[in-house]
Amino acid sequence: MLPSIYNPSEPFTIGLLGGGQLAKMTAQAAYRMGLRVAVIEHGENSPAGVMTKLEFPAGWKDPEELEKFIQASDIITLENEFIDPEILDHIAERRYVFPTADTMRLVQDKYVQKQTFAAVGVPTPAFAVIETKQDLLNFGEKHGYPFVAKTRRFGYDGYGNATIKRDTEIDMVWRRFMEGEEPRPLLAESFVTFTKELAVMVARNKRGEVAVYPCVQTIQQGHICVTVLAPAPIEEQLQKRAQEIALTCVETINGVGVFGVEMFLTTDNEILFNEIAPRPHNSGHYTIEACVTSQYENCVRAVTNMPLGSPAMRVPAACMINLLGERTGSGIPDSVVEMLKIDDVALHLYGKKDVRMGRKMGHLTATGASIDEAFARANQALERFIW
Ligand code: ADP
Repeated sequence: MLPSIYNPSEPFTIGLLGGGQLAKMTAQAAYRMGLRVAVIEHGENSPAGVMTKLEFPAGWKDPEELEKFIQASDIITLENEFIDPEILDHIAERRYVFPTADTMRLVQDKYVQKQTFAAVGVPTPAFAVIETKQDLLNFGEKHGYPFVAKTRRFGYDGYGNATIKRDTEIDMVWRRFMEGEEPRPLLAESFVTFTKELAVMVARNKRGEVAVYPCVQTIQQGHICVTVLAPAPIEEQLQKRAQEIALTCVETINGVGVFGVEMFLTTDNEILFNEIAPRPHNSGHYTIEACVTSQYENCVRAVTNMPLGSPAMRVPAACMINLLGERTGSGIPDSVVEMLKIDDVALHLYGKKDVRMGRKMGHLTATGASIDEAFARANQALERFIW
């Protein structure tokens, strides 16, 4: 018998596969609700690992450590979508793990993801699996240039993407991904001319109850999300459409937990699916301050099969800005004093020991009466944050 859902009369431990900032904020929500937290990560003192006595720093690739982590946990979830589904299958023999291995198999491979959603009518850019160099040439001929080649697995923050502007670039891209020590299978998709990138978080529990968050706009620089505007400054009808697409995606993969669905708003006002993350998502950080129930709390509620909380915003607008490393060295900022003098700005620092260029070290969320106000406030705070 698998241990069932959260029963507040017993100490109950939620196990987190991964110990980064997403795990940390999930743990913060879990603690508030009276749960205990176990963290397994490859390395000590991860942002979530330092919060608990139940830290398993040898990581899930070590069978003994994994065993101890399973023993310590009543139910298990993840913050990292790259975990081998076989490990999830192994865990699932003794504990519920959400999202399930079956869900993960559908989302870990971007080609399978797109196929799965296109099959139920979700609009996506044109895409095709790439098995030979000729497939890339054929794609360019059929759908035109530029187009994007993406590794099917393990892509994040744009690593694993290459925009191909003309057929003479195909050789180079093929060499980069397919002729290294470990070839990285590819898919191709047409280049989308978008006016905005959008994202919607969806929480879903085992009973199929859902909480669909507002659609937000994400702004990327160098393929990394830097700013999130909530709600997205788009027409209500487009908001609804984005929410509809996100919900369809999560239901299609029988997702349990919390999911981030990224989309493009095209120059023709069409919304196209880009990708889904089976975990709390950067674009949902704003929900901590701006929504009735944060994505993290709803993640905990969803995986423990509790009723979900309202995803509605409790302020008119919010702006989240990622605090990305601007140097290498100590992860402690030089000063946050001046920024903390600004009202309606919440600072989150993840407690990473070392900073590197572009590393996600923390974020700040400003709330306000309008998007413009929240955006201005968040940027004012950012200017006062000193590395
Ligand atoms: P990752 O999984 O690395 O985050 P994504 O597939 O989301 O990769 O791509 C990262 C960014 O690259 C997107 O946020 C978007 O700005 C850009 N991008 C991705 N696919 C396309 C596309 N088909 N057309 C235009 N831009 C794209």
